[in-house]
Formats: sequence, structure tokens, C-alpha cells
Amino acid sequence: MAKPYDHDNIFAKILRDEIPCKRVYEDPFALAFHDINPQAPVHVLVIPKAPYVSLDDFLAEATDPQITGFFRAVGKVSRALGLAESEGGQGFRALANAGGDAHQDVPHLHVHLFGGKPLGPMLAKQPESPK
Ligand code: 5GP
Repeated sequence: MAKPYDHDNIFAKILRDEIPCKRVYEDPFALAFHDINPQAPVHVLVIPKAPYVSLDDFLAEATDPQITGFFRAVGKVSRALGLAESEGGQGFRALANAGGDAHQDVPHLHVHLFGGKPLGPMLAKQPESPK
């Protein structure tokens, strides 16, 4: 079972408009905004509006309409940003860190969308030295 949802996490505050964000897309299922510390020329976060801790929690507990609505939104954002090859873009990477080994920092599901340059190998962040 996922850990309990923390209603004071930073993305919950963004959803409640208690903290500003640079919004790029919103619909009843999802909100997308620019990452505060971009790791690529385009780095946008897409989050569900409902309170789910991680991708694991979301896929286990969310309703089918929530899951469909959220992933449709991810697609819409990738196209709206001009990243998707279907829109003439050069492609993008979608990434969701889930849990400790993945270094998930914010305990509200978010899909990172990276693009705007060749992104290199899949695990581009330098790993820590092996333990
Ligand atoms: P994680 O490591 O959990 O997958 O990624 C969390 C992401 O949230 C990081 O890329 C970080 O830069 C971003 N982030 C953390 N706090 C804020 C914030 O207050 N506003 C925005 N826009 N992004 C944030």
C-alpha cells in the first residue's frame, strides 16, 4: 500500500493556488507547469488533480476515467509544447520517479516532460557511486 498522501506537499499547494507556477495546460484531470529547476530547454511537469502519491499509487487506486484523462493530458501537453513528432517536433522524454530508489522528491504523482535538445541516454542523471 502507498504511504498516506501528504496534503501539504508542494504540488498540492500549487493545485490550491497557494504557490504560483508557470502554467502551460489545465483540464479537469491534470495541471501542467514548468519545472522550477529545468533540466532541459523544455522541462514541464504534468500532475493529476486528484491526490495520488506516485505512479504506483495512481495506477493501483485511480479510476479508469482519471487514468485516461491524465495520460491524455500528458499527450496534449507534449503536442502543445511542440515536442511530439506528430506535431513536427523532435520528440521528448516522459519520466515518472516513483519512490526512494527513483529519488522521487515530491510525493504527488508527476510526469516530467523533457525536450528541446537531444536528451542522451535514458538514465542521463549521473548516478551516485555504488554503495
Ligand atoms: P522528482 O524528483 O520528485 O521526480 O521531481 C520533483 C521536481 O519538482 C523537480 O524537478 C523539482 O525541480 C520540481 N519542483 C520542486 N519544487 C517545485 C516548485 O515549487 N515549483 C515547480 N514548478 N517545480 C518544483
